[in-house]
Amino acid sequence: MFQSKNLQKWKSVTVRLKEDELAVLNTKLDLNGFKTFSEFIHAWVRGQYPLHENNEQVEKLIQNIRDKGVRDPLTGEFNPTFYRNVDSKDMLRDLSTRYVYLKHAKDLVRYYERYVDIFFTKPHLIASESGHKRAWICDAMRKFGMYYDRKMHNPELKILIEEIIKRYELNKKMRIHDRIWLADEGFIEAMVHKALEIDGDIGIIIKFAFFSGLRGEEITYAHETPICDSLTGCSCSKLHITQKKNVSIIVLNRIVGQKHSYFTIVPTTLWKMFKNLSKVTKEERNISHMMIKNHTESKATLMDLRKFHYNILCRSEMGEIGAEVLAGRAKSISAKHYLIHELDKISDQYSRCMLKTYFG
Ligand SMILES: [Zn+2]
Repeated sequence: MFQSKNLQKWKSVTVRLKEDELAVLNTKLDLNGFKTFSEFIHAWVRGQYPLHENNEQVEKLIQNIRDKGVRDPLTGEFNPTFYRNVDSKDMLRDLSTRYVYLKHAKDLVRYYERYVDIFFTKPHLIASESGHKRAWICDAMRKFGMYYDRKMHNPELKILIEEIIKRYELNKKMRIHDRIWLADEGFIEAMVHKALEIDGDIGIIIKFAFFSGLRGEEITYAHETPICDSLTGCSCSKLHITQKKNVSIIVLNRIVGQKHSYFTIVPTTLWKMFKNLSKVTKEERNISHMMIKNHTESKATLMDLRKFHYNILCRSEMGEIGAEVLAGRAKSISAKHYLIHELDKISDQYSRCMLKTYFG
């Protein structure tokens, strides 16, 4: 016969309240996120409520940092637990309202869940991760700090997170010019808008560089290579263009060493203006580079536009794989797959992400 190992006895606890007190209780439960009295009692017993008690731990951590580095004085380890009570579903709900694309919020929470323990207990282990991963982790932890502040009114955690990032050099070698993935979206947007302000022929080159995401030599190649007239199944070395609504898909099929570019997408009007330019050589590219530097107080360069392109599309509904394909970093097989099977989808995603925000 089946026998339960944990034959616990259950008891009911009741409480007598006046009618108007009951109304107060219900309001208080609601304010604190509980649907029922029982839910509240269970959370209280489990130590999940009140959450603001956790702030003490954060303060202790900060004191630890100030006194003897990021370590627990007793065990020699840094072992906080306050974040274990954080409900990542609630964090996702909070972040979802702050991003255009749910996927970006989901990715941040995923990184948070995967790395929060390591970040607060053995942050040195993160230092050996790739720059791309570290950027995500730092971004996820910072967003967690902001969420925590909104929820618990505790800005100290944000400071603690910054301290850990600084102390363990988790953002080392992540200056914008060294890295592909940029954590700060505000920075990207500001730089792109600045660069797009530049007008004239050079402005067209700059806009083409941003909207296509091509490398310098590929920009010149796209300008100089003639367009093929044949519409179907051609494998000649000219450019092949497909039009989808107001964007053009430009198939370059160019491979030079490790640098691949299969196809790119640009607004059709921009493509026409770009093709009409008389010269887009290294010299014009250098001028474009200088103009961007001047216009952004040396904070961005022509090369950075390619990174911005990648970052913006990565965070959009297109996602990492689509952005990698457009950046020529994916395997040719997945580029072909996109070109043959998902051209409508990817060009729609591109339009929604790039045209609405940046192409006026
Ligand atoms: Zn052809």
